[in-house]
Amino acid sequence: MEQLKTQWQTLATESSVSQADCLHQLIEEAEAIVIGIGAGMSAATGFTYVGKRFTDAFPDFIAKYRFFDMLQASLFEFENAQEYWAFQSRFSLLNFFDQPVGQAYVDLRQMLADKNHHIITTNADNAFYAADFDMDKVFRIQGEYGLWQCSNHCHQQTYQDESLIRQMVREQSDMKVSEALIPYCPKCGAGLEVNKRTKEKGMVEDDHFHEQKARYEQFLKENQAKKILFLEIGVGHTTPQFIKHPFQQMTQANPKALFVTMNQKDYFTPHAVRSQTIRMDEDIANVLHSAALKA
Ligand SMILES: [Zn+2]
Repeated sequence: MEQLKTQWQTLATESSVSQADCLHQLIEEAEAIVIGIGAGMSAATGFTYVGKRFTDAFPDFIAKYRFFDMLQASLFEFENAQEYWAFQSRFSLLNFFDQPVGQAYVDLRQMLADKNHHIITTNADNAFYAADFDMDKVFRIQGEYGLWQCSNHCHQQTYQDESLIRQMVREQSDMKVSEALIPYCPKCGAGLEVNKRTKEKGMVEDDHFHEQKARYEQFLKENQAKKILFLEIGVGHTTPQFIKHPFQQMTQANPKALFVTMNQKDYFTPHAVRSQTIRMDEDIANVLHSAALKA
């Protein structure tokens, strides 16, 4: 830690400043910033998967299947395609096409405005787009709720039809859309499904995905030896292979790097990277808002 303190002046005074001040100063000091965003960030800004937002949108599905949150519901194997699309169409309006602007995202964008940065997210919602981020600096590694893929993954292409989604929401009844509205793969005839990754099948990764991935990897390559800040916000432990573990490994590989994890839950940090880790456990939205006001 002592060696790191000579690299990062902020750390010498860390114990006496607020988390928002510390975050602001670290961002000012960093030569490059890689931000990893998980579900906790969207939840912090009000896009929660439990409570009123969930019960208002899906009372009928909750009554039938006793779902306890929207994530569980979105991964459920519905009885048939008509029911699947009745759920998914409402889900994708709520979490993608009609997603409002989240203040925590706006605050983050303001903090990063003139900084050398890149973002990776496991969120498949549309929060970055809604908050007017430069989408060339965002890598959505787990797909997008607004895109579809062949359920057989027979070819690496995605599809999008917002007007059909809106029609499905408008015209469904008894938790079913009509047969005529169900989209099928133009190559093999299997049903289409929402573009997301599963443990069993992975995910369809099209040209748009590979372009995002290449830009992210290029940024890492160009900045790997710099005084770099790996800032993880609201990242849990469901898919640590995408953000948490690589961030920790890249931090460990660069003595000038710092790993900051913003999370109210205390996840295990490997011993080797602990001296380069700062944990911020205050409310994410509050810390970002206060830090943005200083930017
Ligand atoms: Zn197909």
